[in-house]
Amino acid sequence: ANGRVPFIAGNWKMNLDHLQSIAFVQKLAWSLKDARLDFDGVEVAVFPPFTDLRSVQTLVAADKLPVKYGAQDVSAHDAGAFTGEISGAFLKALDCEYVIIGHSERRTLHMEDDALVAAKVKAALKYDVTPVICVGETAEDLAEHGPSAVPVAQLTAALEGVGAGADIVVAYEPVWAIGSGQAATPEQAEQVAAALRAVVAESIGADAAAATRILYGGSVKSGNIAGFMRQPNVDGALVGGASLDVAEFSSISRFQ
Ligand code: PEP
Repeated sequence: ANGRVPFIAGNWKMNLDHLQSIAFVQKLAWSLKDARLDFDGVEVAVFPPFTDLRSVQTLVAADKLPVKYGAQDVSAHDAGAFTGEISGAFLKALDCEYVIIGHSERRTLHMEDDALVAAKVKAALKYDVTPVICVGETAEDLAEHGPSAVPVAQLTAALEGVGAGADIVVAYEPVWAIGSGQAATPEQAEQVAAALRAVVAESIGADAAAATRILYGGSVKSGNIAGFMRQPNVDGALVGGASLDVAEFSSISRFQ
C-alpha cells in the first residue's frame, strides 16, 4: 500500500535440508514465472535454515532467480567465543538481504527478551542485512491489554537506539494466530499495523515509517491473503506452515 512494494516472506522454521531447499526454490521460481508474477510489483523471499543458505545463494545467483532469501536469526555479536551463533557478517557474506529477528518461537523457546532483540536488530543493520522484526501478543495479553499494547511495546523496545531512517521490515504476528489455523481478521491486522507504523515514525522518523513494510503473520494461506493485502497498512505477509508448499506459497505470492 502507499507505494510500498508488497513483501511475501516464507519462514521455513526447522524444515527442508539443503538439498530439499534447492528443489523447493527452483520449483517456486518456475511456478512464479509460469504465473507471470510481476516481480516489480511484489517481492518474494524464503527464510531457510542456516545450513541451506549457501545452497540457496548459489542457486539464486547462478540462475538469476527472482527469489530473495534471508536467515531466521542472527547473533547480537560480531565474532568470537559464541558457540553455535551466526554473525551478521556471515549472513552478509552469503548475500542474505533479510534476517528474521524476535520470532515468537525464539522469544518463548529460547528466552529472547526485548533487550536481546534490540541488540540483534542493531547487529543486522550494522552488516546491512534488513531485520524483519517480529512482534505480537499472546491470547492472555490480548485479553488483558487489548490488541496493540504488547506489539507496540515490543517494537518500541526493538527500535531503541536504532538510527533515523533505518531500513527495517516489521512483522505483526499475534502468537495466538501462529500455527493455530485461526488467523486474525484483516481489520484486526490493520488496527495493529497502523499502531506499529506510528511507533516506527516516533522511533526512526516519518520518512522511514512511510517506507517500512509492515507484514501480517499467523495462519496466512491462499484463502485469506487477499483480505490482508487490501488493508492500507498491511504490506505483505510472513508465512509459516503454508510457505512449505510450493503451489500454496506461489498462490499467496500472487495474493490468491
Ligand atoms: C510464523 O511462525 O511466522 C507463522 C506465521 O506461522 P504460520 O503461518 O504457520 O501460522
